[in-house]
Amino acid sequence: MRSFTTLDIQYAHRFYGFKGEAQYLHGHTGILTVEVEDTINTGVNMVFPCNEINKTVWDVVQNFDHALILREDDPLLPAILDVYETQGIKNGAPTNKQKGPSFKTELATAYPECRLVVTKETMTVEGMIKIVYDLLKDKLNIAKITFTSGVNGAVQEYGKENQKEKDRCQLCGIFLNENGVCPKCGYRK
Ligand SMILES: [Zn+2]
Ligand SMILES: [Zn+2]
Repeated sequence: MRSFTTLDIQYAHRFYGFKGEAQYLHGHTGILTVEVEDTINTGVNMVFPCNEINKTVWDVVQNFDHALILREDDPLLPAILDVYETQGIKNGAPTNKQKGPSFKTELATAYPECRLVVTKETMTVEGMIKIVYDLLKDKLNIAKITFTSGVNGAVQEYGKENQKEKDRCQLCGIFLNENGVCPKCGYRK
């Protein structure tokens, strides 16, 4: 069976070098759905607690929320950083509180202090799915990711071969750590 969670992110981006309207800076509300697949955990009667899926996903995805997402070769990038620098908000602002831990993968680097994500490829709906999967594949048994942005959407399913057989907590349903201990409640196998 599958458990899933949905969350929304507000972001700005543009398709650098693209010929249509999307070459201009604009914004979206993106809806991200992450589905997790496993057997029903006896005792907990869940695949995986949805609030835990939500927390795990939000931990990385909040870096995209109220953020600017630009491709690494976009000339807007140095220009914007210049403005942020002059304004004194490049390295953070007291009101910029909703920050996830910064990350750097092959596909994207997050700079939470200035609410910026720099991507290797243009941040399309498909691109977002690739980035999110890469960030979460070791944390959740992801079966499917859906991302919609306005009228556009993309979806990717992931086969069983990408999923791990891991013990889950009898009380919380979340993965036990490498020592067989629940990171949330301390349950021991
Ligand atoms: Zn767009
Ligand atoms: Zn637990």
